[in-house]
Amino acid sequence: MKRRTLLSAAISGAGAALVPLRSVFAQALPAVTIDGKETSLSAAQLNDFQRGLTGAVLRPDSPGYDEARRVWNAEWDRRPALIVRCADVNDVSRAVGFAREHNLLTAVRAGGHSMSGHSVCDRGIVINISAIDAVTVDPRAKTATAGGGALLGQLDAAAQAHRLVTTAGVVSHTGVGGLALGGGMGRLMRKFGLTVDNMLGVELVTAEGRVITAGAEENSDLFWGTRGGGGNFGIVTAFKFKLHDFDGTVKNFRYLYPFEKAKDLLEFYVAFSENADRDLYTNATISRTPGGRMSARLSGSFFGSDAALNRIVNEIAKLGPPASTTNDVTNYVAVQRSIDEQNRHGMHHYAKAGFMNTRDTAFIEPLIESFAAGPPRLAFASLIPMDGAVGEVASDATAYPHRRAMFNIDTAMSWLASAESGAMVKAGRDFWKPIAPFVADGFYVNSLMDENVTAVQANFRGNYPRLVQLKNKYDPTNFFRLNANIVPKV
Ligand SMILES: Cc1cc2nc3c(=O)[nH]c(=O)nc-3n(C[C@H](O)[C@H](O)[C@H](O)COP(=O)(O)OP(=O)(O)OC[C@H]3O[C@@H](n4cnc5c(N)ncnc54)[C@H](O)[C@@H]3O)c2cc1C
Repeated sequence: MKRRTLLSAAISGAGAALVPLRSVFAQALPAVTIDGKETSLSAAQLNDFQRGLTGAVLRPDSPGYDEARRVWNAEWDRRPALIVRCADVNDVSRAVGFAREHNLLTAVRAGGHSMSGHSVCDRGIVINISAIDAVTVDPRAKTATAGGGALLGQLDAAAQAHRLVTTAGVVSHTGVGGLALGGGMGRLMRKFGLTVDNMLGVELVTAEGRVITAGAEENSDLFWGTRGGGGNFGIVTAFKFKLHDFDGTVKNFRYLYPFEKAKDLLEFYVAFSENADRDLYTNATISRTPGGRMSARLSGSFFGSDAALNRIVNEIAKLGPPASTTNDVTNYVAVQRSIDEQNRHGMHHYAKAGFMNTRDTAFIEPLIESFAAGPPRLAFASLIPMDGAVGEVASDATAYPHRRAMFNIDTAMSWLASAESGAMVKAGRDFWKPIAPFVADGFYVNSLMDENVTAVQANFRGNYPRLVQLKNKYDPTNFFRLNANIVPKV
């Protein structure tokens, strides 16, 4: 991959718009080091740092600081000492250099959707790359280059302008950065594989502040690690993705059932999903509204022919009549935005997820019982098939290891007021306990919530030793540690 091509995308983000926010520092700023020790940054050091950047450094009294420290999950109400809004790859390199020089606790933020709050920290530095968000498409080569801070909606829209597509997640305001480095599941994954399976290369700022590229031909060891190893090896300022022809037509359906039908639905669904058409993305979900009302549903998006869809619909009809049905035909960009609002910024969330590598239905009763007894409101548990193109890749071909998983059980609960957090988190943990024994294939690294270090490391399965070697090579001091951490052994 040509570094120039990637850089051109990375530097043409919204950086120039950040200049008016540049701070002048008159006082020293207290901060915390990576080892949790108190430190202080002098005004001269801070002003030097700001002068060397195109983007802006925000401190707690800067205009816009409060908005800039907010992340998607309102559970993480943290106050960094500094937020660096990087305008380009050089800013990222300088920010890494500054953080290293002063040994600062460092978080990396792109789309800000980390469920576990890893993209913001208390009293450290946040390297915010969200302005490095340009997306360019080469329709002839069928590739897209996305800045490390781009959102999925930007990637979807740019590719679809040329009737092209790559796999991306189901909520368009999620960041490409975190999603792509962890795996990247989405409506098209059973057809085109995970986002990591469509990644062709990255431009990355290492822990030493060096800008390097990685792909199949260059730094291929690092390229392997970036496809599932998360943000452990550096800050990706540009991604290059393979695109596929796709006219954007999506046929959507949604069958709603009373909660009493949940067991029948899930049992049916486990069998229905086996050898399902790769043009089909579905989820079977039990959910509870804010008022506490429970229901079950089977929803899906289909990318194939009408005849094939009819066969699927006839199959679902065997379940008996639903309470209500919705069908529509829409375009891909619209469907990718369709649940944005229900997943809006600013609510509190607790989520747990895990992979099942069997079609044994023993999990269904405990799941339903625990759900009925558990989260008081605004909660869901979804069963999402993972097979198809995802399962065709060897478990060690990319750092993402869960290739034999048949289903992802994805659960979450949401609430509005921080005063409720203690009770809601406890309810979420209690709800998950009876389900945990059934998810033998680990969990999606991007669904990380409160798993401990041992669970995080074991979750990389057989790929962990190779990831440690990469960490030893690219980040031996564990500078990038606010993530699903791979601990170096040097
Ligand atoms: C509403 C919602 C919907 C979701 N839907 C899906 C889905 O459909 N499919 C799916 O696979 N996942 C989904 N996820 C999970 C999602 O993949 C993760 O939350 C992911 O971390 C989001 O990336 P981000 O850039 O927005 O997050 P951030 O919080 O900005 O980043 C998370 C972490 O990723 C690392 N990181 C991010 N960008 C970079 C970069 N450029 N270089 C180096 N490290 C980086 C950092 O360690 C950072 O702390 C969803 C999450 C939410 C909240």
